[in-house]
Amino acid sequence: MKPSELKNLNVAVVGAGYGGAATAKALSLLGARVDVYEQASRIREVGAGIGLRPASVARFHEWGIFEAIAAVSSPSEYFEILSATGEPIMRESWPAHGELTRTHLIHRGDFIDALLGVLPDGMVKVGHRLERVQDHGTGATLAFANGTTAEADLVVGADGIKSVVRKELFSDREPVFSGEHAYRAVISVDDARGMVTDDNLRMYIGKGTKVYLLPLRHRGQVSFDITALCPDPTWAPKVTRDDIVATVQGFDERLVDITRGLDLDTVNIRAVYDIDPVDTWHSDSVVLIGDAAHSMLHHQGQGANSAIQDAGALADALREADTLPAALALFQSVRKPVTDELQRISRQGWTEEEISDVFPGQKPATAPRSQ
Ligand SMILES: Cc1cc2nc3c(=O)[nH]c(=O)nc-3n(C[C@H](O)[C@H](O)[C@H](O)COP(=O)(O)OP(=O)(O)OC[C@H]3O[C@@H](n4cnc5c(N)ncnc54)[C@H](O)[C@@H]3O)c2cc1C
Repeated sequence: MKPSELKNLNVAVVGAGYGGAATAKALSLLGARVDVYEQASRIREVGAGIGLRPASVARFHEWGIFEAIAAVSSPSEYFEILSATGEPIMRESWPAHGELTRTHLIHRGDFIDALLGVLPDGMVKVGHRLERVQDHGTGATLAFANGTTAEADLVVGADGIKSVVRKELFSDREPVFSGEHAYRAVISVDDARGMVTDDNLRMYIGKGTKVYLLPLRHRGQVSFDITALCPDPTWAPKVTRDDIVATVQGFDERLVDITRGLDLDTVNIRAVYDIDPVDTWHSDSVVLIGDAAHSMLHHQGQGANSAIQDAGALADALREADTLPAALALFQSVRKPVTDELQRISRQGWTEEEISDVFPGQKPATAPRSQ
């Protein structure tokens, strides 16, 4: 689209998570007028760390926000997979992207603060929970729970795994339970029993459980995350300390000690869900991005990174295509094959034996890992 057309483009982004915030930045840089509508009254993130991959870091450079991200993250050279008792299984450098080979480890809260911090004041409107979206073909109307409405030429549904935009316009299929729980906490390096000695991500894998240690050097902390097979599909399950400690039985004693010492009030406990691939992500004036389009399990650490890639690809498509409908079609054709594959691979997190131990005779979403 021509720069003059982009300048007249009125964009409404629903959701101020990583995908929504990054899209707001990327589309503002094209000259579009962007408003972001977020349901929460205050935007907060779970206490846990993630790895920002080189392709995401490349987008931050392109958008001129790398310094803001670098100030609250630490570069990492590689990730390592070890057995439950610490025998090395695999060590791999982070996949490179062009000249960039570094992944940056970051606290989720610091990441969203950094992304929102580079948006102009007033762009994000909190307390706006989308209830309905009406697609008119050449634009769309949003209706919020607070009684207000908004019109836009382009609506970007960045409203996460339970997306209202997806449900209203593209697919009413419900999220799928993976058969796993995630228990996530951020602790001081001093409480990590000497297990954090550098800036690299380590995953310890035992029967039906994965334990991640993701250092956050700039904070003097480490993200301590457990993913365990569990048949309880309650989104926010009730779990005791003993339940969590039981998932790491047989692991390195230091990991068991860390788990025993967790302050349960600071542990984020949730059942893990993804969605089945959605056939179509867009109309001529509405498009899905991030988890709304392709929520995936976290085994590849690619969900937030994919949301960042979506934001960049949507801006590229708007610049390259002649019309808005053509841009949205181009965006889907570039991104969907990639995320379809990530959704598929990320369901292969466990061996057949592990799954049948926890789900005898049943078939959870998660498929056996090929070994
Ligand atoms: C246990 C676990 C570990 C993970 N680890 C990693 C990792 O290591 N690396 C990685 O890249 N990814 C990881 N992910 C995935 C990552 O968290 C998601 O992919 C990412 O948060 C998606 O970003 P998003 O902006 O699309 O959606 P979200 O982060 O869900 O943001 C959606 C936003 O929309 C708002 N919203 C929702 N509904 C409405 C509405 N009706 N109206 C207005 N606003 C609304 C929400 O409040 C929220 O702010 C992990 C996920 C889990 C569960």
